[in-house]
Amino acid sequence: MHPYPFDYHRAASVDEAIRLLGEHEDDGKILAGGHSLLPVMKLRLAQPAILIDITALDELRGVRLNGDTVEIGALTTHHDIETDAVLAEHLPLLPAIAHIVGDQQVRHRGTFGGTLAHADSAGDYPAGVLALGGEIVARGPSGERTIPVDEFFLGFLTTALEPNELLTSVRIPALASGTGTSYQKFANPASGYAIVGVAVVLRQGGDGAIDSIRIGITGTADAAYRATAVEDALSGTTPDDATLKAAVAHATEGVEVLGDQHSPADYRARVTQNLVRRAVQEAVANAG
Ligand SMILES: Cc1cc2nc3c(=O)[nH]c(=O)nc-3n(C[C@H](O)[C@H](O)[C@H](O)COP(=O)(O)OP(=O)(O)OC[C@H]3O[C@@H](n4cnc5c(N)ncnc54)[C@H](O)[C@@H]3O)c2cc1C
Repeated sequence: MHPYPFDYHRAASVDEAIRLLGEHEDDGKILAGGHSLLPVMKLRLAQPAILIDITALDELRGVRLNGDTVEIGALTTHHDIETDAVLAEHLPLLPAIAHIVGDQQVRHRGTFGGTLAHADSAGDYPAGVLALGGEIVARGPSGERTIPVDEFFLGFLTTALEPNELLTSVRIPALASGTGTSYQKFANPASGYAIVGVAVVLRQGGDGAIDSIRIGITGTADAAYRATAVEDALSGTTPDDATLKAAVAHATEGVEVLGDQHSPADYRARVTQNLVRRAVQEAVANAG
């Protein structure tokens, strides 16, 4: 199917992109990799009057280490994330996630910022950034602001970004040595999207007890969320089988579990619990 007719503008600067967004708050859309926007336009689920192409804005591309913080530009592609040396050393969870996003074509065009701004309930990175923590950097007509990742994903395809704001980068604290991470994904075999995806970041003390843990879950509900009830149940414990079994029972606490043609809600809830258990076990195994 063809999309409705639209105008196209290739922004030459971030300021120009923001100005155009401001002028077209109700009918303009940023175009990054186009791998989520163009399909929904072709299905006529979105009908923007103007696309503001930001792909020429190289300042939005790439990964930088600033002290203890890693800053990832919005236009950094999945392939760039998969192969970046700074991320491999300081945030290995993100390359591990990027490696299983879509296929080669998607990974070479799709962008980190586009995935987060789109906030597909089945997107992979939202689980990862929730587990890692950090902040989203957004720029609009009145300047720059930061949004904690915990406050960013509000609902299905809905984020805390204002319609006139551009997501420019994401800042994530570099992981201390000894931190264990894992991403476990149960993928739809046809699309590769997550039916459920679970990311875990944890640290243990010398006695083996969990000092800190963050768990991000995608696919299970209409927006990615942190499984804080599981985090609370595991904090301060040594995660043996019995402790883990009791803790993962809380994996869907506080959310409405999605049911659809790919997976009824009760099955998705069971998969979520199992993936949380596996992710914690893997993170424990690779910590240190
Ligand atoms: C066949 C296929 C398989 C896929 N499989 C997976 C998968 O397994 N896992 C997964 O997570 N994703 C998957 N995707 C989605 C893919 O990762 C997309 O790249 C991603 O969701 C969107 O990134 P994009 O750069 O293409 O954004 P676009 O499609 O260009 O934009 C998406 C939305 O975000 C907005 N936007 C983009 N950038 C910004 C910005 N900087 N600031 C503000 N708003 C912005 C746009 O206006 C639009 O509304 C798949 C896609 C396809 C086509």
